[in-house]
Amino acid sequence: MSSRPKAASGPLWWAGLPAGATRPALGQDESVDVAIVGAGFTGLWAAYYLLSADPSLKVLVLEAEHVGFGASGRNGGWVSALYPVGPRVLARDHGEAAARDQYAALRESVDEVGRVAQAEGIECGFHKGGTLVVATGRAQAARGQALAQASEHWGTGTAWLAASAAADRLAVEGLCGATFNPNCARIHPFRLALGLAGAVENKGGRILELTRVASLDNHSPAENRVRTVDGFVVKARHLIRATEAWTARLPGHRRTLAPVYSLVVATAPLPRSVWDEIGLANAETFSELRHMIVYGQRSVDNRIVFGGRGAPYHFGSGIKAGFDISPGVFTTLRRTLTQLIPATEGVTFTHAWGGPLGIARDWHPGVGYDRSTGMGYSGGYVGDGAALSNLAGRTLADLVTLRDTALTRLPWVQHRSRRWEPEPLRWLGVNAGLQLARLADREELLTGRPALLGAALSALTSH
Ligand SMILES: Cc1cc2nc3c(=O)[nH]c(=O)nc-3n(C[C@H](O)[C@H](O)[C@H](O)COP(=O)(O)OP(=O)(O)OC[C@H]3O[C@@H](n4cnc5c(N)ncnc54)[C@H](O)[C@@H]3O)c2cc1C
Repeated sequence: MSSRPKAASGPLWWAGLPAGATRPALGQDESVDVAIVGAGFTGLWAAYYLLSADPSLKVLVLEAEHVGFGASGRNGGWVSALYPVGPRVLARDHGEAAARDQYAALRESVDEVGRVAQAEGIECGFHKGGTLVVATGRAQAARGQALAQASEHWGTGTAWLAASAAADRLAVEGLCGATFNPNCARIHPFRLALGLAGAVENKGGRILELTRVASLDNHSPAENRVRTVDGFVVKARHLIRATEAWTARLPGHRRTLAPVYSLVVATAPLPRSVWDEIGLANAETFSELRHMIVYGQRSVDNRIVFGGRGAPYHFGSGIKAGFDISPGVFTTLRRTLTQLIPATEGVTFTHAWGGPLGIARDWHPGVGYDRSTGMGYSGGYVGDGAALSNLAGRTLADLVTLRDTALTRLPWVQHRSRRWEPEPLRWLGVNAGLQLARLADREELLTGRPALLGAALSALTSH
């Protein structure tokens, strides 16, 4: 096999599927019950559960590009029970029972994604094989063991595997052990987005593409308006903002969420002989206990899809197509994968892409709805939105239909993060955080001890 990587080619997930607009754009003013901005997982799950709760609702989803154009159609395909805020921090702010409820709701959301995929006939390769996070040094192992110990208290399901048990699952260079958590499924994310869109339409919802919203004019249910850049107006009693990284472009939201890029590479389908060496026999998703986040999955067609942070935050919350491509980060990802899993040495990499995700100032996701104004929102998932967006969709449906449920009492409901600092402080702060992760990994490699910088990083990221 050749080790020469091909040029960046766009998301693997879009290959062979209709990755462009296939639906009409808004061509006239409209009046509906619920207008949802954004056809990623959040907007689609919200539409799906609203229509399930009340089939008589007129629900319209407005998407600037096409279904699954954003992070939902580009991600690493982990549907996990991970949450950007650690249980200890959640308990400090909301009490221990609420922290446990939030995490339990996420575990349930992983299964709910699989349930709906099956019920709606969405072939997105959902497979719940759990997630393995390997330790390749003493400091990482200490962190993994501490996580497993804390998990016993919180009931989040993470266990520590000694090196030999971990090696049975994944052949990693310098393996010292791993954490394993069963609450994670692998998916083909773009197929889930397309399938969900179809399910929404089957329930009577409408999705319009190539329809960029310029503003959400939110005053009261009777006066709410969505205005598009083409000059059309949609009247709706309820508005839902589901724009994640792009939120920063909406009037009044420049400092609500910081768009941060995550980049991904994918190998060609690997032959059985290579998989026999690698492992991941149960399609476990995998990562490493380093500070700089990496994530991998065995895809439904037997590739390795491997991604990570490392791309810089772009000044002024910048988002543009060119930022999806970063040859330096792609090279680092390919090298990291090969160093981690030596059996991938010499494999062909066929795809490389990236996309922005949304991070709030306190790293705390939030979902909410204001009854007096009819305005709802959800986002700030950092890199954990695949299951969280499902929880958001169910929660928004309960909030909009004015149902008081266990979901509407979870601690992330009505959470409002403070705003990011103005530039250049935002640029300095976010990029300093990324640099801190890099330096903490280097320190651990050199000393073998948990990095002192790790504590600063934990404080910064609410862990
Ligand atoms: C590379 C990468 C890897 C990731 N890996 C994982 C993972 O493995 N597991 C996980 O849980 N999470 C992962 N995430 C995060 C996860 O993908 C997101 O949290 C989740 O998809 C967010 O869904 P969303 O619908 O809120 O946002 P998005 O999917 O970003 O959708 C927002 C949509 O809104 C549209 N939009 C924005 N502004 C407007 C406007 N003004 N008018 C109309 N439409 C608009 C956009 O075009 C877009 O389609 C990853 C993210 C990235 C980028």
